[in-house]
Amino acid sequence: MKVLVLNAGSSSLKYQLFQLPEKQVLASGSVERIGESKSGIKHKVYQSGSASGKITLEVEIPDHKVGLEKIARLLLHGNTSVIKDQEEIEVVGHRVVHGAEKFSRPTLVDAGVLDELRKLSYLAPLHNPANITGIEVSMQVFKKAQQVAVFDTAFHQTLPSHVYRYAVPNELYTKHGFRAYGFHGTSHRYVSREAASFLGIDNDSFNAISIHLGNGCSMTAVKEGKSIDTSMGLTPMGGLMMGTRPGDFDPSLILFLGHALKMNFDEVDKLLNKNSGLKGITGENDLREVIKQYEENDPQAQLAIHMYIYRIRKYIGAYAVALGRVDAVIFTAGVGENSPFIRKEVCTELDILGIQLDEALNSAPSEETREIQHEDSRVKLLVVPTNEELEIVNEVVELTTPGE
Ligand code: ADP
Repeated sequence: MKVLVLNAGSSSLKYQLFQLPEKQVLASGSVERIGESKSGIKHKVYQSGSASGKITLEVEIPDHKVGLEKIARLLLHGNTSVIKDQEEIEVVGHRVVHGAEKFSRPTLVDAGVLDELRKLSYLAPLHNPANITGIEVSMQVFKKAQQVAVFDTAFHQTLPSHVYRYAVPNELYTKHGFRAYGFHGTSHRYVSREAASFLGIDNDSFNAISIHLGNGCSMTAVKEGKSIDTSMGLTPMGGLMMGTRPGDFDPSLILFLGHALKMNFDEVDKLLNKNSGLKGITGENDLREVIKQYEENDPQAQLAIHMYIYRIRKYIGAYAVALGRVDAVIFTAGVGENSPFIRKEVCTELDILGIQLDEALNSAPSEETREIQHEDSRVKLLVVPTNEELEIVNEVVELTTPGE
């Protein structure tokens, strides 16, 4: 059986085709700038799990349906062909950002589920409508395939109510669903399970602090394999400082922006989602660039790095208390996997929590799951490369395999 994993954004479609049961990647790629003047496709094919060829096409792609049809053609025809018949793709697994309380598990999508998803779009207006478009066009292009939605919020549906509720009038929750949902759940679930299995610990008794540092950043306290607290809330804006989002701040700022600076909601939205975080402090949202400026003693970059690190450390402290016992701290995503500097700064002087980094292990280059703690460290420190597409396949298998 083959499973296509699809991640639909407002102007992009990212995809990976997997062969089961091996879970080996056959092809991957992305369609970018859909609906714009210069759209294009990057497509890679793999043999025995390693990339064996790639092509880049500049073609006009007016909408997501045309984009997906082009992907299907690349998978089927010519020297990029990895399938003989479109019907070999039995399942399409879709990343859906917000499942609210309705969806705590991967879900087979039918017309009813699509309706429910449309109703939830108000909770994630930047993401869910595009995810829904991805499902709709996939139903048209891969007519015979099962469509499965996997939700970024699902892993966090185990949060207890005293954690997910905000101290605002009840009706905001009961009528409008205003509560913390948490995001990056697919990544936190994947890396925490990987870490437990790597350490030979039963997932059901594994306690970890999972730190996902990409463009978006979030942390999760995982107790006995379940998410019990996470740093993002109603939307992916809260918690840690990110590339362009602020993380936690006093919400009165929004009143000030409106009342005193006369900004409208669209302007506030742009300020908080696109122009805050590292970008707000340094003008740069790419952490590599900020680190470079930090090393050149640029004062704004110094401030930004100190703010970025301090937040992570503060959440480590909070989650150590929430968990009681921490077996491992896990670093993942673009920054977490690739920046020994950030990992070192985060772990400095945390002996109080039993956390001690080994500098040589931390700086040794590797793309594998690995331990980086000092031999005296009570807590294991791990770098685990995340793989959200593979986790979507894992969840699709759990859903579609009887008895699991
Ligand atoms: P996304 O959240 O879009 O999936 P990624 O997980 O790919 O993002 O992470 C992107 C971020 O990782 C960027 O801010 C980039 O600067 C950062 N990054 C990648 N490699 C490094 C590195 N070696 N050092 C510091 N930051 C890095």
